[in-house]
Amino acid sequence: MINIILFGPPGSGKGTQAAMLKEHFNLLHISTGDLLRAEIKNETTLGMEAKKFMDAGQLVPDAIVINMIGGTVDEVNQKNKSGIIFDGFPRTVAQAEALDNLLAEKNTSIKCVLSLVVDEEELTKRILERGKSSGRTDDQDEATIKKRVLEYRTKTEPVANYYAQHNLVKEIKGIGSISEIFEALKNAIENL
Ligand code: ADP
Repeated sequence: MINIILFGPPGSGKGTQAAMLKEHFNLLHISTGDLLRAEIKNETTLGMEAKKFMDAGQLVPDAIVINMIGGTVDEVNQKNKSGIIFDGFPRTVAQAEALDNLLAEKNTSIKCVLSLVVDEEELTKRILERGKSSGRTDDQDEATIKKRVLEYRTKTEPVANYYAQHNLVKEIKGIGSISEIFEALKNAIENL
């Protein structure tokens, strides 16, 4: 299985690129942000709990997210996929450890972490722009966006160090046209 983590700060283009990569390589796309928003839309207990954190720009607690991801990995076989592209997960070292264990149970592992590099000014600009049409309240308020970037720097960036210990991280310039960035990501996967 080709299991890839698409890594990067909020607004770095993970969702856009993951949607294109999943088509090209026949991957199962797992976006914890999308899964959480679906839970909120369906007004589940999990969704209502997660919403409080998301609206405040904070990470949702590990236990909630890890629990949510558990069953999805099995869909790879059910849907005849070649692997998984993780988007927005893992976001903490505890989540990364849980993911490693989950994949090990299925006799597989992470093959590569593709890390999109985008500077902070560009991130804020992109998220505010997305907020105009996405309806996502967490995209519309500059203070919430700042909080998300801070959460990223303190809790999520260490995930890159975790995978770097195993030489799995490849940085990709996240500025340029969508197709240029897609080409760079595609080449990195083809060279695995
Ligand atoms: P973005 O990366 O642009 O912020 P996402 O849709 O990936 O957008 O995430 C939106 C929000 O959902 C995050 O700010 C966070 O509150 C929550 N979230 C998503 N994935 C995770 C995760 N793996 N762990 C904790 N919280 C998460």
